Amino acid sequence: MYSHPKFSKDFMTNFPVSANVAKMKMSSTLKAGQTAANLRDQGFDVIDLTLGEPDFPTPEFIKEYACEGLQKNLTKYTPTAGLKSFQESIVEFYAEEFGANFSPKEIIATDGGKQALFNAACTLLNPGDEVLIPKPYWVTFPEIANFINAKSIFIETEETNFILTAEQVKNSITDKTKLLIVNSPNNPTGRVIPADEMRRIIEVCAERNVYVLTDECYLFFAYPPTEVFTSASLPEDLRQFVCVAGSFSKTYAMTGWRIGYTIANEDWTREMTKLQSHSTSHPTSFVQYACGRAMENHAGSKAAVGAMLAEYERRKDWLIPALQAIENFKCAMPEGAFYAFVDVRNLLGDRFKTSADFADFLLNKSHVVVTDGEGFGADGFLRFSYATSMENLQNAVERIRKVLEQL
Ligand code: PLP
Repeated sequence: MYSHPKFSKDFMTNFPVSANVAKMKMSSTLKAGQTAANLRDQGFDVIDLTLGEPDFPTPEFIKEYACEGLQKNLTKYTPTAGLKSFQESIVEFYAEEFGANFSPKEIIATDGGKQALFNAACTLLNPGDEVLIPKPYWVTFPEIANFINAKSIFIETEETNFILTAEQVKNSITDKTKLLIVNSPNNPTGRVIPADEMRRIIEVCAERNVYVLTDECYLFFAYPPTEVFTSASLPEDLRQFVCVAGSFSKTYAMTGWRIGYTIANEDWTREMTKLQSHSTSHPTSFVQYACGRAMENHAGSKAAVGAMLAEYERRKDWLIPALQAIENFKCAMPEGAFYAFVDVRNLLGDRFKTSADFADFLLNKSHVVVTDGEGFGADGFLRFSYATSMENLQNAVERIRKVLEQL
């Protein structure tokens, strides 16, 4: 059998990874989930609170639409930017629900929110450009900037309770600033930027020709009285600076289906379409069909999202007071998404130098896995996902309480 002379173990382990990828860190949230899975494989009864993934199945009516798409033989390539019916259903949905006014030519169907973010950043940024990223951030944002050799400029937001303000943005803009990436409702903090502040943030950016990438993947998960706000509903003069990255992953519990979208001006959309035409082409044809149909079905969509939101709210209303009752845990009430962001800095010192040490301790002693804040630029914090059953949450808190009592 032919064997290439370079096919040796040494050669393989010395894979000459590109400089752009070598700089990237593996997603810390995925890593924590992997640790939980490994422990489970070893027979431990692990409670995994790391997952940023709804624990609900995809609603039946959406699965039925996907089957319908298959029956219609939607099994071929679609246009790169997606099926026209998909684009039109997004336009119609946003017009109806948010009073937004944009055209189907401003939409691209993407393989999840992640591709939407990558498309937007890669078509705008050059090496050396500055990208404003509020802290704490979703782990992928700085990695995208890194990949493009752009420079992440982090904005501290703790003094405004982790809610980004226009003032903070204004003070961070320089002549090199090209983009602000903002995520609201926020992963990991659960905070939501109020609509008028978001508008001011975008105005401040537009005045200085800075573009804004708004990651709205938790758009529908804001707990009343907090209001849902999409930057897609802004007037045209502001919207031309905005790219909305949307996703169906959380909205319809469709993480594995890989579908999202961008809403951006026609020029930006044209460049993103060009880029996507050389990478993934487009998301799966009958999945686009299913999501388009789901958006057309306002009543079905609202019922499905409403049921999930109510269940997240029920868990949040139990979990947050339970965490706050633990000595040295500080945790604000989330306004959106499905994460509790716990400040454990009071516990750091000789025994635990970092929140990662403390997360390791919880893992080893209580078999509860949570995500350390460092990957979000927030050492000293832990992220607890409540996209898991109430029973898991109650057991996890009980276990944590017990091990802390023994400290
Ligand atoms: N943005 C944020 C803030 C997220 O938390 C996630 C997933 O966890 C995504 C984007 C990406 O979602 P997807 O690519 O599954 O649509």
